[in-house]
Amino acid sequence: MSTGADAGRRAELERSLTQVGERIERACADTGRDPADLTLIVVTKRFPLEDVLALHELGVRDIGENRDQEAGEKVMALRDRLGADAPTVHFIGQLQSNKAGHVAGYADVVQSADRAKIVDALARGAQAAGRELDVLVQVGLDADEGRGGVRPDAAGALADRVAGLDGLRLRGVMAVAPLGADPAPAFARLREVADGIRSNHPDAHWISAGMSGDLEAAVAHGATHLRVGTAILGSRTAVL
Ligand SMILES: *Cc1c(COP(=O)(O)O)cnc(C)c1O
Repeated sequence: MSTGADAGRRAELERSLTQVGERIERACADTGRDPADLTLIVVTKRFPLEDVLALHELGVRDIGENRDQEAGEKVMALRDRLGADAPTVHFIGQLQSNKAGHVAGYADVVQSADRAKIVDALARGAQAAGRELDVLVQVGLDADEGRGGVRPDAAGALADRVAGLDGLRLRGVMAVAPLGADPAPAFARLREVADGIRSNHPDAHWISAGMSGDLEAAVAHGATHLRVGTAILGSRTAVL
């Protein structure tokens, strides 16, 4: 197999990708949404390049990564192999300001901008690389601030900051639902925050919400981007 993934693994990925596609279609049918308005981002963190190449052959055009070093190496290899056809890379992990500049050099989208220092470092990195970076403001929907995200009442000001910087293009918001709680109220709150930001920045209409366990709730609450790992690639603890 040209991708290096063996036929069994490829068949497994094809099957799980189809199942997730069916879940998304059902969720759309249940809520009167058009599947064409949703982008599936396959979260490939901690899975090897061979899996990403197999997914690409199966039609996946957006991937998510959360660690700078792993992501940077994978992206370079992907662009080597696939050139302009390489998937769009979404950085979804927590950022430190000393890493943000590096991430700005290769990511297409950074979904985890959650404080001014990070935003400024992303802008400097994008400018230095002569790139234009799509940015989502990560909103914390959890009382636990350790999981990243700006407080909902401070998201608007951070979005204004992103929109005002050269090299960055404000696209919308991202969030992770609180652990172990009903995701619906959290996603409803995220939509309110998103609507507030969009009233000042009409182009910032992306809402990245929903993972393997809660994508239906995210579709019901207006998500435009879903970030799905486990349901497609399997359990990360079994790998590496
Ligand atoms: C790992 C990760 C995901 C994917 O989660 P799954 O439950 O494996 O689908 C989505 N979003 C973020 C921010 C992540 O870190």
